[in-house]
Amino acid sequence: MAQAPEVQGELISPYWDVVVVGAGPAGALAAHGLATRGLHVLLIEQRRFPRWKVCGACLSPQALAALESAGLANLVAAQGGLSLQQLQLGVAGLVSPIGLGAGGILSRSRLDQALLEAAEAAGATVLMGTRAVLGAAVTGLEPNREVLLQKGTSRQSVRAKIVLIAAGLTHRAIDSEAEISTNIESHSRIGAGCLLPGEAAEIPLGVLQMAVGRRGYVGLVRIESGEINIACAFDPSMLRCGGGAAVVCQKLLAEAGFAPLPDLKEAAWQLTAALSRQSIPLAGHRLLLIGDAAGYVEPFTGEGMGWAMTSSLAAIPLVLRGKEHWDDAIEKEWRQLHRRWVTRRQISCRVLAMILRHPEISWGLHRLTGNFSSIASSMIGFMQRPALPSSRD
Ligand SMILES: Cc1cc2nc3c(=O)[nH]c(=O)nc-3n(C[C@H](O)[C@H](O)[C@H](O)COP(=O)(O)OP(=O)(O)OC[C@H]3O[C@@H](n4cnc5c(N)ncnc54)[C@H](O)[C@@H]3O)c2cc1C
Repeated sequence: MAQAPEVQGELISPYWDVVVVGAGPAGALAAHGLATRGLHVLLIEQRRFPRWKVCGACLSPQALAALESAGLANLVAAQGGLSLQQLQLGVAGLVSPIGLGAGGILSRSRLDQALLEAAEAAGATVLMGTRAVLGAAVTGLEPNREVLLQKGTSRQSVRAKIVLIAAGLTHRAIDSEAEISTNIESHSRIGAGCLLPGEAAEIPLGVLQMAVGRRGYVGLVRIESGEINIACAFDPSMLRCGGGAAVVCQKLLAEAGFAPLPDLKEAAWQLTAALSRQSIPLAGHRLLLIGDAAGYVEPFTGEGMGWAMTSSLAAIPLVLRGKEHWDDAIEKEWRQLHRRWVTRRQISCRVLAMILRHPEISWGLHRLTGNFSSIASSMIGFMQRPALPSSRD
Protein backbone atom coordinates (compact mmCIF):
# COMPACT_ATOMS: atom_id res chain seq x y z
CA MET A 1 0.00 0.00 0.00
CA ALA A 2 1.05 3.62 -0.50
CA GLN A 3 2.70 5.57 2.28
CA ALA A 4 0.39 6.63 5.14
CA PRO A 5 -1.14 10.11 4.78
CA GLU A 6 -0.25 12.99 7.05
CA VAL A 7 -2.30 15.36 9.21
CA GLN A 8 -0.41 18.54 10.07
CA GLY A 9 2.89 16.81 9.32
CA GLU A 10 2.12 13.71 11.45
CA LEU A 11 1.66 10.30 9.86
CA ILE A 12 -1.82 8.94 10.41
CA SER A 13 -2.90 5.34 10.62
CA PRO A 14 -3.74 3.67 7.30
CA TYR A 15 -6.44 1.55 9.05
CA TRP A 16 -9.78 2.92 10.28
CA ASP A 17 -13.11 1.59 11.51
CA VAL A 18 -14.92 4.16 9.39
CA VAL A 19 -13.84 6.63 6.74
CA VAL A 20 -16.39 9.40 6.10
CA VAL A 21 -16.03 11.26 2.80
CA GLY A 22 -17.38 14.83 2.93
CA ALA A 23 -17.70 17.11 5.98
CA GLY A 24 -21.06 18.79 5.26
CA PRO A 25 -23.85 18.29 7.84
CA ALA A 26 -24.31 14.60 6.91
CA GLY A 27 -20.64 13.61 7.10
CA ALA A 28 -19.71 15.70 10.13
CA LEU A 29 -22.71 14.52 12.17
CA ALA A 30 -22.06 10.88 11.25
CA ALA A 31 -18.36 11.23 12.18
CA HIS A 32 -19.37 12.90 15.45
CA GLY A 33 -21.89 10.15 16.32
CA LEU A 34 -19.50 7.30 15.49
CA ALA A 35 -16.50 8.83 17.25
CA THR A 36 -18.69 9.47 20.31
CA ARG A 37 -19.43 5.73 20.32
CA GLY A 38 -15.72 4.95 20.42
CA LEU A 39 -15.07 4.15 16.75
CA HIS A 40 -11.80 5.08 15.04
CA VAL A 41 -13.10 7.60 12.47
CA LEU A 42 -11.38 9.51 9.66
CA LEU A 43 -13.37 12.43 8.17
CA ILE A 44 -12.10 13.69 4.81
CA GLU A 45 -13.07 17.00 3.20
CA GLN A 46 -11.82 18.34 -0.11
CA ARG A 47 -12.38 22.01 0.75
CA ARG A 48 -10.92 24.13 3.54
CA PHE A 49 -13.39 25.56 6.07
CA PRO A 50 -14.92 27.98 6.75
CA ARG A 51 -16.44 28.22 3.29
CA TRP A 52 -19.64 29.74 1.93
CA LYS A 53 -21.96 27.34 0.12
CA VAL A 54 -25.15 27.72 -1.93
CA CYS A 55 -27.82 27.02 0.70
CA GLY A 56 -30.74 28.91 2.23
CA ALA A 57 -29.06 28.75 5.68
CA CYS A 58 -32.41 27.83 7.29
CA LEU A 59 -32.51 24.95 9.75
CA SER A 60 -35.82 23.11 9.83
CA PRO A 61 -37.30 21.75 13.08
CA GLN A 62 -36.08 18.35 11.83
CA ALA A 63 -32.49 19.62 11.51
CA LEU A 64 -32.63 21.14 15.00
CA ALA A 65 -34.10 17.92 16.42
CA ALA A 66 -31.30 15.91 14.78
CA LEU A 67 -28.69 18.16 16.38
CA GLU A 68 -30.40 17.85 19.73
CA SER A 69 -30.53 14.10 19.47
CA ALA A 70 -26.78 14.06 18.74
CA GLY A 71 -26.17 16.03 21.95
CA LEU A 72 -25.50 19.26 20.02
CA ALA A 73 -28.64 21.19 20.99
CA ASN A 74 -26.67 24.37 21.82
CA LEU A 75 -24.54 24.43 18.68
CA VAL A 76 -26.72 26.84 16.66
CA ALA A 77 -27.20 29.35 19.47
CA ALA A 78 -23.50 29.17 20.40
CA GLN A 79 -22.63 30.18 16.82
CA GLY A 80 -24.94 33.22 16.94
CA GLY A 81 -27.76 31.47 15.05
CA LEU A 82 -31.15 33.17 14.94
CA SER A 83 -34.63 31.77 15.26
CA LEU A 84 -36.72 31.61 12.10
CA GLN A 85 -40.13 33.03 12.87
CA GLN A 86 -41.83 34.04 9.67
CA LEU A 87 -41.94 33.18 6.00
CA GLN A 88 -43.00 35.95 3.62
CA LEU A 89 -44.14 33.95 0.64
CA GLY A 90 -44.47 35.89 -2.61
CA VAL A 91 -46.43 34.16 -5.37
CA ALA A 92 -47.76 35.94 -8.48
CA GLY A 93 -47.55 39.40 -6.93
CA LEU A 94 -49.20 38.41 -3.64
CA VAL A 95 -46.92 38.37 -0.56
CA SER A 96 -48.42 36.35 2.33
CA PRO A 97 -46.90 36.26 5.83
CA ILE A 98 -46.79 32.71 7.17
CA GLY A 99 -45.93 31.96 10.78
CA LEU A 100 -43.23 29.32 11.19
CA GLY A 101 -42.70 27.02 14.14
CA ALA A 102 -39.33 26.23 15.52
CA GLY A 103 -36.71 26.74 12.80
CA GLY A 104 -33.29 28.37 12.93
CA ILE A 105 -30.99 30.47 10.72
CA LEU A 106 -27.22 29.97 10.62
CA SER A 107 -24.73 30.51 7.79
CA ARG A 108 -23.18 27.39 6.32
CA SER A 109 -19.72 28.84 7.01
CA ARG A 110 -20.42 28.75 10.73
CA LEU A 111 -22.60 25.65 10.88
CA ASP A 112 -20.25 23.39 8.94
CA GLN A 113 -17.19 24.63 10.79
CA ALA A 114 -18.91 24.07 14.17
CA LEU A 115 -20.03 20.54 13.20
CA LEU A 116 -16.53 19.71 12.04
CA GLU A 117 -15.09 20.92 15.36
CA ALA A 118 -17.69 18.86 17.24
CA ALA A 119 -16.65 15.74 15.30
CA GLU A 120 -12.99 16.44 16.04
CA ALA A 121 -13.73 17.06 19.74
CA ALA A 122 -15.56 13.70 19.84
CA GLY A 123 -12.36 12.00 18.65
CA ALA A 124 -12.66 11.89 14.85
CA THR A 125 -9.50 12.65 12.86
CA VAL A 126 -10.11 15.30 10.20
CA LEU A 127 -8.23 15.67 6.91
CA MET A 128 -9.07 18.94 5.12
CA GLY A 129 -8.13 19.95 1.59
CA THR A 130 -8.05 16.29 0.63
CA ARG A 131 -10.13 14.68 -2.10
CA ALA A 132 -11.19 11.07 -1.50
CA VAL A 133 -12.22 8.44 -4.02
CA LEU A 134 -13.63 5.07 -3.09
CA GLY A 135 -11.27 2.21 -3.90
CA ALA A 136 -11.68 -1.52 -4.19
CA ALA A 137 -13.20 -3.94 -1.69
CA VAL A 138 -10.37 -5.91 -0.07
CA THR A 139 -11.09 -9.50 0.92
CA GLY A 140 -9.10 -11.81 3.19
CA LEU A 141 -8.69 -12.10 6.94
CA GLU A 142 -9.31 -8.39 7.53
CA PRO A 143 -11.86 -7.44 4.86
CA ASN A 144 -12.17 -3.71 4.26
CA ARG A 145 -12.58 -0.95 1.66
CA GLU A 146 -9.80 1.09 0.27
CA VAL A 147 -10.11 4.88 -0.02
CA LEU A 148 -7.71 6.79 -2.23
CA LEU A 149 -6.69 10.22 -1.01
CA GLN A 150 -5.43 13.07 -3.12
CA LYS A 151 -3.89 16.20 -1.65
CA GLY A 152 -2.20 18.45 -4.17
CA THR A 153 -0.04 16.17 -6.28
CA SER A 154 0.38 13.45 -3.65
CA ARG A 155 -1.76 10.32 -3.72
CA GLN A 156 -2.11 7.90 -0.83
CA SER A 157 -4.59 5.34 0.43
CA VAL A 158 -6.25 4.24 3.66
CA ARG A 159 -8.50 1.30 4.51
CA ALA A 160 -11.72 1.18 6.50
CA LYS A 161 -14.14 -1.47 7.66
CA ILE A 162 -16.92 0.80 6.42
CA VAL A 163 -16.96 3.84 4.16
CA LEU A 164 -19.69 6.49 4.38
CA ILE A 165 -20.03 8.66 1.29
CA ALA A 166 -21.41 12.03 2.43
CA ALA A 167 -19.95 14.02 -0.40
CA GLY A 168 -23.03 15.98 -1.46
CA LEU A 169 -24.82 16.31 -4.79
CA THR A 170 -21.95 15.77 -7.19
CA HIS A 171 -20.12 13.10 -5.31
CA ARG A 172 -17.24 12.35 -7.58
CA ALA A 173 -16.11 10.22 -4.68
CA ILE A 174 -17.20 7.09 -6.53
CA ASP A 175 -15.54 6.56 -9.87
CA SER A 176 -17.22 3.31 -10.80
CA GLU A 177 -20.67 3.73 -12.40
CA ALA A 178 -20.90 -0.04 -12.20
CA GLU A 179 -21.16 0.15 -8.41
CA ILE A 180 -23.29 3.30 -7.89
CA SER A 181 -24.93 5.34 -10.62
CA THR A 182 -26.85 8.62 -10.45
CA ASN A 183 -30.25 9.28 -12.03
CA ILE A 184 -30.63 12.98 -12.65
CA GLU A 185 -34.26 14.04 -13.24
CA SER A 186 -34.88 15.58 -16.61
CA HIS A 187 -35.88 19.26 -16.17
CA SER A 188 -34.20 19.32 -12.78
CA ARG A 189 -33.57 22.83 -11.55
CA ILE A 190 -30.12 24.08 -10.68
CA GLY A 191 -29.17 25.98 -7.55
CA ALA A 192 -27.57 29.42 -7.39
CA GLY A 193 -26.68 31.78 -4.59
CA CYS A 194 -24.59 34.63 -3.28
CA LEU A 195 -24.07 36.82 -0.25
CA LEU A 196 -25.02 40.53 -0.22
CA PRO A 197 -24.08 43.27 2.25
CA GLY A 198 -26.66 43.81 5.00
CA GLU A 199 -27.92 47.12 3.61
CA ALA A 200 -28.86 45.55 0.25
CA ALA A 201 -32.37 44.62 1.45
CA GLU A 202 -34.74 45.44 4.26
CA ILE A 203 -35.26 42.00 5.68
CA PRO A 204 -36.01 41.84 9.40
CA LEU A 205 -34.15 39.32 11.55
CA GLY A 206 -35.91 35.96 11.71
CA VAL A 207 -37.80 36.44 8.41
CA LEU A 208 -37.34 34.33 5.29
CA GLN A 209 -38.54 35.98 2.07
CA MET A 210 -39.38 33.50 -0.67
CA ALA A 211 -40.21 34.64 -4.18
CA VAL A 212 -41.83 31.78 -6.06
CA GLY A 213 -42.41 31.76 -9.80
CA ARG A 214 -43.26 29.19 -12.41
CA ARG A 215 -39.64 28.73 -13.42
CA GLY A 216 -37.82 29.06 -10.13
CA TYR A 217 -37.65 30.68 -6.74
CA VAL A 218 -35.44 32.89 -4.63
CA GLY A 219 -34.97 32.75 -0.84
CA LEU A 220 -33.56 35.73 1.07
CA VAL A 221 -32.59 35.69 4.72
CA ARG A 222 -30.47 37.84 7.03
CA ILE A 223 -27.77 35.68 8.63
CA GLU A 224 -25.97 36.14 11.95
CA SER A 225 -23.33 38.48 10.41
CA GLY A 226 -26.12 40.82 9.23
CA GLU A 227 -25.43 39.96 5.55
CA ILE A 228 -28.20 38.79 3.20
CA ASN A 229 -27.92 35.16 2.10
CA ILE A 230 -29.54 34.48 -1.28
CA ALA A 231 -30.34 30.94 -2.42
CA CYS A 232 -32.26 30.16 -5.60
CA ALA A 233 -33.39 27.28 -7.76
CA PHE A 234 -33.89 28.01 -11.46
CA ASP A 235 -35.09 26.12 -14.48
CA PRO A 236 -31.93 25.82 -16.59
CA SER A 237 -33.87 27.35 -19.52
CA MET A 238 -34.09 30.64 -17.59
CA LEU A 239 -30.33 30.86 -17.32
CA ARG A 240 -29.94 30.11 -21.01
CA CYS A 241 -32.04 33.21 -21.83
CA GLY A 242 -29.02 35.35 -20.95
CA GLY A 243 -28.10 37.79 -18.21
CA GLY A 244 -27.08 35.08 -15.77
CA ALA A 245 -28.27 34.37 -12.24
CA ALA A 246 -28.54 38.05 -11.24
CA VAL A 247 -31.05 38.84 -13.99
CA VAL A 248 -33.11 35.70 -13.37
CA CYS A 249 -33.19 36.46 -9.66
CA GLN A 250 -34.49 40.03 -10.26
CA LYS A 251 -37.17 38.69 -12.63
CA LEU A 252 -38.42 36.19 -10.04
CA LEU A 253 -38.45 38.82 -7.27
CA ALA A 254 -40.48 41.21 -9.42
CA GLU A 255 -42.93 38.49 -10.56
CA ALA A 256 -43.53 37.45 -6.95
CA GLY A 257 -44.16 40.98 -5.67
CA PHE A 258 -40.86 41.84 -3.96
CA ALA A 259 -38.74 44.98 -4.42
CA PRO A 260 -35.66 44.65 -6.69
CA LEU A 261 -32.24 44.24 -5.09
CA PRO A 262 -29.32 46.55 -5.91
CA ASP A 263 -25.88 45.34 -7.03
CA LEU A 264 -26.94 41.77 -7.80
CA LYS A 265 -24.73 41.67 -10.89
CA GLU A 266 -21.63 42.52 -8.87
CA ALA A 267 -22.24 39.72 -6.35
CA ALA A 268 -20.07 36.58 -6.46
CA TRP A 269 -22.71 34.09 -7.67
CA GLN A 270 -22.11 30.36 -7.34
CA LEU A 271 -24.10 27.75 -9.27
CA THR A 272 -24.74 24.10 -8.39
CA ALA A 273 -25.25 21.00 -10.47
CA ALA A 274 -28.78 19.73 -11.28
CA LEU A 275 -30.59 19.39 -7.95
CA SER A 276 -33.10 16.53 -8.25
CA ARG A 277 -31.26 13.24 -8.42
CA GLN A 278 -31.10 9.77 -6.96
CA SER A 279 -28.14 7.45 -6.41
CA ILE A 280 -28.73 3.80 -7.22
CA PRO A 281 -28.22 1.73 -5.17
CA LEU A 282 -27.82 3.55 -1.84
CA ALA A 283 -25.31 1.06 -0.48
CA GLY A 284 -22.64 -1.35 -1.60
CA HIS A 285 -20.14 -3.70 -0.02
CA ARG A 286 -19.00 -2.01 3.23
CA LEU A 287 -20.41 1.22 1.84
CA LEU A 288 -23.38 3.47 2.68
CA LEU A 289 -24.41 6.72 0.98
CA ILE A 290 -25.83 9.41 3.25
CA GLY A 291 -27.07 13.00 2.87
CA ASP A 292 -27.39 14.56 -0.59
CA ALA A 293 -25.01 11.92 -1.94
CA ALA A 294 -27.88 9.41 -1.60
CA GLY A 295 -30.41 11.58 -3.39
CA TYR A 296 -32.00 14.98 -3.31
CA VAL A 297 -35.10 16.83 -4.41
CA GLU A 298 -35.40 20.51 -5.13
CA PRO A 299 -35.16 22.24 -1.77
CA PHE A 300 -38.27 24.38 -1.45
CA THR A 301 -38.99 24.07 2.25
CA GLY A 302 -35.39 24.22 3.50
CA GLU A 303 -35.34 20.58 4.50
CA GLY A 304 -32.08 19.37 2.94
CA MET A 305 -29.87 19.61 6.02
CA GLY A 306 -32.59 18.00 8.15
CA TRP A 307 -32.80 15.06 5.72
CA ALA A 308 -28.99 14.85 5.55
CA MET A 309 -28.53 14.76 9.32
CA THR A 310 -31.45 12.35 9.79
CA SER A 311 -29.80 9.97 7.35
CA SER A 312 -26.58 10.15 9.41
CA LEU A 313 -28.44 9.26 12.60
CA ALA A 314 -30.28 6.43 10.86
CA ALA A 315 -27.02 4.99 9.50
CA ILE A 316 -25.20 4.85 12.84
CA PRO A 317 -26.73 1.57 14.17
CA LEU A 318 -26.01 -0.16 10.82
CA VAL A 319 -22.40 1.03 10.87
CA LEU A 320 -21.96 -0.27 14.43
CA ARG A 321 -23.34 -3.64 13.35
CA GLY A 322 -21.43 -3.75 10.06
CA LYS A 323 -18.14 -2.95 11.72
CA GLU A 324 -18.38 -6.22 13.67
CA HIS A 325 -19.69 -8.30 10.82
CA TRP A 326 -20.71 -7.04 7.38
CA ASP A 327 -23.48 -8.97 5.68
CA ASP A 328 -25.36 -8.13 2.50
CA ALA A 329 -28.61 -7.69 4.47
CA ILE A 330 -27.18 -4.37 5.70
CA GLU A 331 -27.32 -2.97 2.17
CA LYS A 332 -31.00 -3.88 1.87
CA GLU A 333 -31.76 -2.53 5.34
CA TRP A 334 -30.13 0.80 4.47
CA ARG A 335 -32.37 1.16 1.43
CA GLN A 336 -35.43 0.52 3.64
CA LEU A 337 -34.31 2.85 6.42
CA HIS A 338 -33.45 5.58 3.95
CA ARG A 339 -36.85 5.28 2.30
CA ARG A 340 -38.55 5.47 5.69
CA TRP A 341 -36.64 8.43 7.14
CA VAL A 342 -35.74 10.47 4.09
CA THR A 343 -37.42 9.55 0.78
CA ARG A 344 -40.96 9.69 2.20
CA ARG A 345 -40.39 13.19 3.53
CA GLN A 346 -38.94 14.23 0.20
CA ILE A 347 -42.17 13.17 -1.49
CA SER A 348 -44.30 15.61 0.56
CA CYS A 349 -41.81 18.35 -0.21
CA ARG A 350 -42.26 17.62 -3.91
CA VAL A 351 -46.04 18.04 -3.61
CA LEU A 352 -45.75 21.53 -2.11
CA ALA A 353 -43.09 22.51 -4.65
CA MET A 354 -45.44 21.34 -7.42
CA ILE A 355 -48.34 23.43 -6.09
CA LEU A 356 -46.16 26.50 -5.86
CA ARG A 357 -44.76 25.96 -9.33
CA HIS A 358 -48.30 26.65 -10.55
CA PRO A 359 -49.21 30.12 -9.26
CA GLU A 360 -52.78 29.63 -10.49
CA ILE A 361 -53.25 26.86 -7.88
CA SER A 362 -52.00 29.16 -5.11
CA TRP A 363 -54.27 31.93 -6.40
CA GLY A 364 -57.19 29.48 -6.61
CA LEU A 365 -56.64 28.44 -2.99
CA HIS A 366 -56.41 32.06 -1.96
CA ARG A 367 -59.65 33.03 -3.72
CA LEU A 368 -61.48 29.91 -2.62
CA THR A 369 -60.65 30.20 1.06
CA GLY A 370 -59.48 33.81 1.36
CA ASN A 371 -56.80 32.39 3.60
CA PHE A 372 -53.86 31.04 1.65
CA SER A 373 -51.47 31.90 4.50
CA SER A 374 -53.06 29.54 6.99
CA ILE A 375 -53.32 26.71 4.42
CA ALA A 376 -49.65 27.11 3.47
CA SER A 377 -48.70 27.39 7.15
CA SER A 378 -50.51 24.13 7.98
CA MET A 379 -48.91 22.36 4.99
CA ILE A 380 -45.42 23.52 5.90
CA GLY A 381 -46.01 22.71 9.59
CA PHE A 382 -47.20 19.22 8.63
CA MET A 383 -44.19 18.60 6.40
CA GLN A 384 -41.76 19.95 8.94
CA ARG A 385 -42.96 17.94 11.93
CA PRO A 386 -39.77 16.39 13.28
CA ALA A 387 -39.41 12.61 13.43
CA LEU A 388 -36.14 10.88 14.17
CA PRO A 389 -34.92 7.29 14.13
CA SER A 390 -34.51 5.75 17.57
CA SER A 391 -31.61 3.48 18.47
CA ARG A 392 -33.96 0.49 17.84
CA ASP A 393 -34.48 1.42 14.14
C1 LIG B 1 -30.52 26.70 -3.49
C2 LIG B 1 -30.47 25.79 -2.29
C3 LIG B 1 -31.04 26.21 -1.09
C4 LIG B 1 -31.02 25.35 0.02
N1 LIG B 1 -31.55 25.79 1.19
C5 LIG B 1 -31.55 25.00 2.25
C6 LIG B 1 -32.05 25.45 3.50
O1 LIG B 1 -32.41 26.60 3.67
N2 LIG B 1 -32.10 24.56 4.53
C7 LIG B 1 -31.66 23.26 4.39
O2 LIG B 1 -31.76 22.49 5.35
N3 LIG B 1 -31.14 22.83 3.24
C8 LIG B 1 -31.07 23.65 2.17
N4 LIG B 1 -30.51 23.23 1.01
C9 LIG B 1 -29.99 21.86 0.93
C10 LIG B 1 -28.68 21.69 1.69
O3 LIG B 1 -27.75 22.63 1.25
C11 LIG B 1 -28.15 20.26 1.45
O4 LIG B 1 -29.20 19.34 1.55
C12 LIG B 1 -27.07 19.91 2.47
O5 LIG B 1 -25.94 20.71 2.29
C13 LIG B 1 -26.70 18.43 2.35
O6 LIG B 1 -25.66 18.13 3.24
P1 LIG B 1 -24.58 17.00 2.87
O7 LIG B 1 -23.70 16.92 4.06
O8 LIG B 1 -25.26 15.80 2.37
O9 LIG B 1 -23.79 17.58 1.62
P2 LIG B 1 -22.92 18.90 1.49
O10 LIG B 1 -23.35 19.93 2.44
O11 LIG B 1 -22.93 19.23 0.04
O12 LIG B 1 -21.45 18.44 1.92
C14 LIG B 1 -20.70 17.61 1.13
C15 LIG B 1 -19.23 17.90 1.39
O13 LIG B 1 -18.44 16.89 0.75
C16 LIG B 1 -17.31 17.49 0.20
N5 LIG B 1 -16.83 16.61 -0.89
C17 LIG B 1 -17.42 16.39 -2.08
N6 LIG B 1 -16.72 15.48 -2.79
C18 LIG B 1 -15.66 15.12 -2.01
C19 LIG B 1 -14.58 14.21 -2.19
N7 LIG B 1 -14.48 13.47 -3.31
N8 LIG B 1 -13.65 14.11 -1.21
C20 LIG B 1 -13.77 14.86 -0.06
N9 LIG B 1 -14.77 15.73 0.14
C21 LIG B 1 -15.72 15.84 -0.80
C22 LIG B 1 -17.80 18.85 -0.28
O14 LIG B 1 -16.73 19.76 -0.41
C23 LIG B 1 -18.78 19.23 0.81
O15 LIG B 1 -18.19 20.01 1.83
C24 LIG B 1 -30.45 24.07 -0.09
C25 LIG B 1 -29.85 23.67 -1.29
C26 LIG B 1 -29.84 24.52 -2.37
C27 LIG B 1 -29.17 24.09 -3.64
